[in-house]
Amino acid sequence: MQGEKKVFINLLSFLIILIIFIIIILNYIVKSRCIYVYDMFIIILIVFFCFIGLFFTIGIFAVVFTIYKKKTNELLNTFITYTVDMSYPILLIIGKIIGIKREKLQRSFIEINNLLVSSIKKKYKPKDILILSPHCIQNSDCKFKVTYDIENCRRCGKCQINDLLRLKDKYGVKIAVATGGTLARKVVSDIKPKIIIAIACERDLTSGIKDVKKIPVYGIINKRPNGPCFNTSFDVKSLEKVIIKFISGG
Ligand code: SF4
Repeated sequence: MQGEKKVFINLLSFLIILIIFIIIILNYIVKSRCIYVYDMFIIILIVFFCFIGLFFTIGIFAVVFTIYKKKTNELLNTFITYTVDMSYPILLIIGKIIGIKREKLQRSFIEINNLLVSSIKKKYKPKDILILSPHCIQNSDCKFKVTYDIENCRRCGKCQINDLLRLKDKYGVKIAVATGGTLARKVVSDIKPKIIIAIACERDLTSGIKDVKKIPVYGIINKRPNGPCFNTSFDVKSLEKVIIKFISGG
């Protein structure tokens, strides 16, 4: 299994085992008739856990199938999306109990999301692609305000706003630099892109991907050599590769 995806898959498998264990215990309680009055309630619980367990199991198979086949369809996507959405809060708790860092699980979530978004074999017009970048990519000493208009950048090359502008010129994609979630949401509602490539930290990407349900969001995790939210950077080659992929539909 590639990359960080296995963290999510392993935790989800653990959750399914836990659900099976709960079903066995509930079943035992009903059969042993030790709490007779609540039989009906327990049977409803068993049915509920069976349904959830089956759903997650199909979800896992859908993820593994998509990883190996590198393609997906709407039905598999639906299973994966609902599985990830429903299990994510529980996996965070399980992760915390067994000592898996939140950031690691978020990276895994982003990788699975990216897998789904890249499996959509669809060509996008450059004008429908929005690259959403955080403000902390700008050099902290720069006095030019690029948040409302990235063209205010003087392209001195001291930060990667310069790279974003180069990609904008080369491919004709839209670029926006946002200071936070509210501005990012406003940009998305103004520009109305068909697909978003977002650059951010694990936490912001996870919440952004979960927030924007109707538009596919491909996440690129930023680099933070100077600590969080300060003079950050990103892998420009990865970004360019993703842009080419979405334009060519490959
Ligand atoms: S590349 Fe643009 S945004 Fe970055 S420091 Fe230079 S002028 Fe400022």
